[in-house]
Amino acid sequence: MENIGVLMACPMNAYLEHQLHNRFNLLRFWNFPDSDAFFAQINAASVRALVVNAFVGADLLDVFIDRLPNLEILSTYSVGLDKVDLAKCKEKGIRVTNTPDVLTDDVADIAIGLILAVLRKISEGDRFVKKGLWKMAHFQFQFTSQFSGKSVGIIGLGRIGLAIAKRAEAFNCAISYHSRSQKLNTNYKYYPTVIELASNCQILVVACALTPETHHIINRQVIDSLGPNGVVINIARGGHVDEAELISALVEGRLGGAGLDVFEDEPEVNEELFGIDNVVLLPHHGCATVETRNAMADLVVRNLEAHFMNKPLLTRVV
Ligand code: NAP
Repeated sequence: MENIGVLMACPMNAYLEHQLHNRFNLLRFWNFPDSDAFFAQINAASVRALVVNAFVGADLLDVFIDRLPNLEILSTYSVGLDKVDLAKCKEKGIRVTNTPDVLTDDVADIAIGLILAVLRKISEGDRFVKKGLWKMAHFQFQFTSQFSGKSVGIIGLGRIGLAIAKRAEAFNCAISYHSRSQKLNTNYKYYPTVIELASNCQILVVACALTPETHHIINRQVIDSLGPNGVVINIARGGHVDEAELISALVEGRLGGAGLDVFEDEPEVNEELFGIDNVVLLPHHGCATVETRNAMADLVVRNLEAHFMNKPLLTRVV
């Protein structure tokens, strides 16, 4: 397999690079100044596999798909497929794999972490102690808000949504959810609209796939339905939240707080968020543990090996 060209779109994980380099002819796109230089210097016809992740822009992906004539498989080092033009891949006969399941626990853990961080003001408390404010008698750290027993509404009761629900149940939270259809295998309360879900919970967690239908699923109406004590948690994709509306609701006190792992224009983050205390921000590291990132890498490699050995793919999307 060492003659098979595998193109990695950006640095993702040294372990993944090592595994790919050991098996295939690994081409690193980031070693070239731009796509024109890349296509001028390599034999595009030798590339049969493309490895991307959640951060590679759809524009760049389109360039690869259009200009690699022998591309057979695209393997994304992510579960989210919002950057991949699945219809185009299907049309061109390019197979697609992703990395579901192995990252579910980590993302659910970070959702609970964000809920606790916002409600119990963990980041604020940390800043308070480190700035030396605790020892100054006239600065008393304000009371926080309990998580145990609060009601949690989840948008998208898929793998990650369900794992969040199970964790929140252990905190004695009442769970409800919204998705396109009611799930038959759960007793959690179903709401057919996001507005109804938001009106009936205190913490609203976004855990659905980003599609044209779910873009800005958290809008002004949803935020106002959640209310001034409500909290928005987004561990899915930045495009789910209308950030301008979120910021004005937080500034105007129409929303109680937010915990965000993902952003509309990441890694650019609207700096207005930096000045708001009841917001906790993370750099899209929901599944960024060593253990999970290596498990995701193994899945990418095993899918490529299976493809080139004419065996069934492990996690096929298209
Ligand atoms: P999944 O099992 O496919 O679940 C996605 C859920 O989204 C499904 O249950 C689906 O339910 C729901 N959904 C789709 N369209 C919807 C709509 N229009 N309205 C409401 N719900 C809708 O995927 P997963 O493994 O749980 O991952 C979920 C998302 O998490 C990924 O797409 C990714 O964007 C994000 N993620 C983030 C990180 C991170 O680092 N922060 C890491 C991994 C994944 P129905 O089909 O019933 O509607």
